[in-house]
Amino acid sequence: MEIKRADFVKSAVYSKDYPEKTKIELAFVGKSNVGKSSLINSLTNRRKLAKTSKTPGRTQLINFFLINNEFHFVDLPGYGFAKIAKVIKDTWGKIIEDYLTSERNKLVFVLLDIRRTLSEEDANLLRWLEHYDIDYKIIFTKTDKLSNNERFRQLKKIREKMEFSNEDVFFYSSVTREGRDKLLEFIESIK
Ligand code: GDP
Repeated sequence: MEIKRADFVKSAVYSKDYPEKTKIELAFVGKSNVGKSSLINSLTNRRKLAKTSKTPGRTQLINFFLINNEFHFVDLPGYGFAKIAKVIKDTWGKIIEDYLTSERNKLVFVLLDIRRTLSEEDANLLRWLEHYDIDYKIIFTKTDKLSNNERFRQLKKIREKMEFSNEDVFFYSSVTREGRDKLLEFIESIK
């Protein structure tokens, strides 16, 4: 499939402000700087649909986009800014958690930087999704930054910390667009 239309619907913090539950939702979540905005922009062929979130401390919102008039992309706030007050971290965590536990027809894409090992927050999020039995898939981002050998070694290391089957992971580069067709094919199959 191709994404022909991508329209901003609304931003929300609290569940009362989410759009009506009429559409399937594909949510994207990950540590800040993992490449989430770049991925959403590259998937939708839009340069600035999802805004990069470089400024810790700025209010974090959930952004909903209508894709091809059919389903929603949900851009969740990035977590894990190192230098931020705990109280703000907790608030963001709550915003993400509220969305993830809300009863909506959704699938969650957890983004992980292929070059990094799992952070504590990544691991917690994954454990937590398992615990609540929430459907999710992993997307390894920035694959262009590693050679094939390095990728292989890195995946081996990640597998020591986390189990996953090959059907549950995608690879993506917003620079080379590796993995874009596969991810769009998958989205087509579930929406
Ligand atoms: P976000 O905070 O998760 O939304 O991350 P961004 O999309 O803003 O990306 C963070 C940084 O990583 C930016 O400097 C991007 O240019 C860079 N980046 C994002 N995706 C890729 C990718 O696939 N490959 C490479 N080489 N850099 C990327």
